[in-house]
Amino acid sequence: MWVRWVNAIYIKTAGWWNYQPKADSGWYWRKICSVKEKLKSLFSEAELDQMPKYSIQKVYQKLVQQHEKVPWGSAVWNRASIPKTRVICWLMVQGRLQTRERLHKIGVCNTTTCLLCEAKDETRPHLFFDCEYSRRCLQGVEEWLDIPTSKVHYMGLLRWVKWKSQCSKFQKTAIHTAVNATVYNLWRARNDALWNQKVPTPSTTIRCIQRSVIDRLAHIGAKQSSTNDQIWWKSKCTV
Ligand SMILES: [Zn+2]
Repeated sequence: MWVRWVNAIYIKTAGWWNYQPKADSGWYWRKICSVKEKLKSLFSEAELDQMPKYSIQKVYQKLVQQHEKVPWGSAVWNRASIPKTRVICWLMVQGRLQTRERLHKIGVCNTTTCLLCEAKDETRPHLFFDCEYSRRCLQGVEEWLDIPTSKVHYMGLLRWVKWKSQCSKFQKTAIHTAVNATVYNLWRARNDALWNQKVPTPSTTIRCIQRSVIDRLAHIGAKQSSTNDQIWWKSKCTV
């Protein structure tokens, strides 16, 4: 009934495939038409005609394929990490954390000085991990987990974990959890400086990261499948 009504009122003699809604059409109708335009970028008219029944699964699979795989996806969204650390890390890689540089650009903040070192501008690359404070925290975590302390850039660190390290699956999980926790705790330290005028020492932040990773992996029951992993992790839990 609705389809017949739509044909009579809107489409009339025009073909649905090339139909464009009028500017004064209702919002819901324009929305339906915009979904149709999106489908056109995924399927040809013939492909859709051949579909005996509209399949949500097929359309979803095609949509997913269209998204390029991001090199940080599995690290940021690794399930072992505490959810709030995943979100902050995701915002960080997207460049969407509200750093002072961003706030200054939109006229919300009248200074761009880094709250942690008070020496440079607070930009994303500075906070993660060019800042003297961040660098010391990251290197503390790297030393703890046997990561070369020359890995001072986020993507370089992820590449090392994926391609160069000889880490086991468990070790990679622990490292990704720790890197997410590092980003989260640096952002928290920065916010502490902003709202409470207190900057924790780098060693306090490092201990906080270590504790959160140890507790989290114990909480979710992350398995060390080899004796090597067990020995390795036991040595890390004594901090
Ligand atoms: Zn700084």
